[in-house]
Amino acid sequence: MADCIFCMINERKIPSTIVYEDDKVLAFNDINPVAPVHVVIIPKEHIANVNELTQENAAVLGDIHMAAKKIAAKLGVADKGYRLINNCGADAGQTVFHLHYHLIAGIKMGAKIV
Ligand code: 5GP
Ligand code: ZN
Repeated sequence: MADCIFCMINERKIPSTIVYEDDKVLAFNDINPVAPVHVVIIPKEHIANVNELTQENAAVLGDIHMAAKKIAAKLGVADKGYRLINNCGADAGQTVFHLHYHLIAGIKMGAKIV
């Protein structure tokens, strides 16, 4: 989708540090990391957020979770732990409207919302 930052990263129109890629999923370091490990995992297909999931495209959530598992192992944080976070919509703080999960690790995390 034109003028979507994450589509542009996927198309290599905007540079990023890619940490994982397969035919369905791309993952890259967040430009503004909140922890030593902060990876953004996206479907290559443009889906704005969870509200835009359908029976036809929802299988990519499994692909994203499989990617998260591989990335955590590759970056050496699988055993110590990590959080996978999705912000959906304005009240949740979503700023980029291309579905994504934050993989955050490398610090002992503090207060949990849930
Ligand atoms: P959200 O707030 O929508 O859940 O997360 C969007 C994330 O994308 C933020 O953590 C932000 O730092 C990251 N981000 C925004 N623009 C860019 C960019 O151009 N490159 C990279 N690597 N990350 C970005
Ligand atoms: Zn997009």
